[in-house]
Amino acid sequence: MNILIINTGSSSLKYQLFDMTAAGVLTGGVVERIGEAEGVLTHKTYENGEVKKNKITQAIPDHQAAMNLMAEQISHGIDAVGHRVVQGGESFKEATLITEDVKKAIEANNPLAPLHNPPNLIGIRAAEALFPGKPQVAVFDTNFHQTIPEKAFLYALPYDYYTNHRIRKYGFHGTSHKYVANETARLMGKNPGDVNLITLHLGNGCSISAVKGGKCQDTSMGMTPLAGVMMGTRCGDLDPAIFGYLMTHTGLSQDELDEVLNKKSGLKGICGYNDLRDIHDKSAQGDTNAALAVDMFAYQIKKYIGAYAAVLGRVDALVFTAGVGENDEIVRWKALEGLDFLGIEIDKAVNDVRNPKPHTIHTENSRIQVWVVPTDEERQIAIETRGVLEKQ
Ligand code: AMP
Repeated sequence: MNILIINTGSSSLKYQLFDMTAAGVLTGGVVERIGEAEGVLTHKTYENGEVKKNKITQAIPDHQAAMNLMAEQISHGIDAVGHRVVQGGESFKEATLITEDVKKAIEANNPLAPLHNPPNLIGIRAAEALFPGKPQVAVFDTNFHQTIPEKAFLYALPYDYYTNHRIRKYGFHGTSHKYVANETARLMGKNPGDVNLITLHLGNGCSISAVKGGKCQDTSMGMTPLAGVMMGTRCGDLDPAIFGYLMTHTGLSQDELDEVLNKKSGLKGICGYNDLRDIHDKSAQGDTNAALAVDMFAYQIKKYIGAYAAVLGRVDALVFTAGVGENDEIVRWKALEGLDFLGIEIDKAVNDVRNPKPHTIHTENSRIQVWVVPTDEERQIAIETRGVLEKQ
């Protein structure tokens, strides 16, 4: 069974085709700058351990055109399509076969994810037009967090803001947290239901989750992906009164402040750079704000680890994933140093060696295991798409 995974952004389309029998990627790519004068498609085909690349530059006016161009590159048959959809709200607890009603429900969640759900829906409609009659499945970023109990997902606001305005924590990166949680359990030789994990998705966006027996108990992102630990350009947790205070005292409009919190804060706000590779370089050259940004970031990660250890009661492993989690030994080290009282001991020499494969970085004596596991959201979407089809 060949499953095509589609991830549509406002001006981009990422895709991967999985052969689920061999559990391998056949082909994949990305279309960028959709709607601009010149769009780009970068396509890769994997054959006998070799990668063949193809790049096309031309006007790509809309997502349908992007999808058509993608389909022209793919010579394999396609049996089903799995879509990443960002916000499922409370309507979707798990991956779902797409019907007219499901599309309406995704649309009803647009106000909760105005930048993400509309392009996701455009991608669904374009794929339906291109592959008529093929089953299409939606896998939501919020699915994995739907097991978070009410005491953890509610904000302490008037209760009717939840019932009337759907104000609550939804959490994001759920597909990634689920993938690395399942993968780590497997690598530990356990069932996901038997392990308690703290999963740390640290990329440009960052979220940390407490996962008990395969079920998410809490996560650091909130109603939107702005909450939690500070990120590349996002502020993370703030005193909510700061927003009103800044509107009064800076004269910035709500939209401008939104832009500051999303694009000009986090690591970038503190030191001017959002990529940790640049930040470490600057820090090594004596830039004190770069060093401060790393210290703040690691400190905030450490606080979430402590909080989620308390939530879980027993922690079997921490799992680092995504661009920073997989590659940045300095952030991992700083976030974990001093946590030996919790039973976390890192082997510094092992931590310092870059390793693209899943591996551990804890010492023999560490009570809690510490894993670095590359995430694979597309593969998780493919697995869940197959799961939905098997139930039909
Ligand atoms: P992601 O959003 O998962 O693609 O992660 C992107 C971020 O990962 C970048 O902005 C960097 O901060 C970080 N990153 C990627 N590669 C490295 C690396 N080799 N060392 C340190 N940080 C890295």
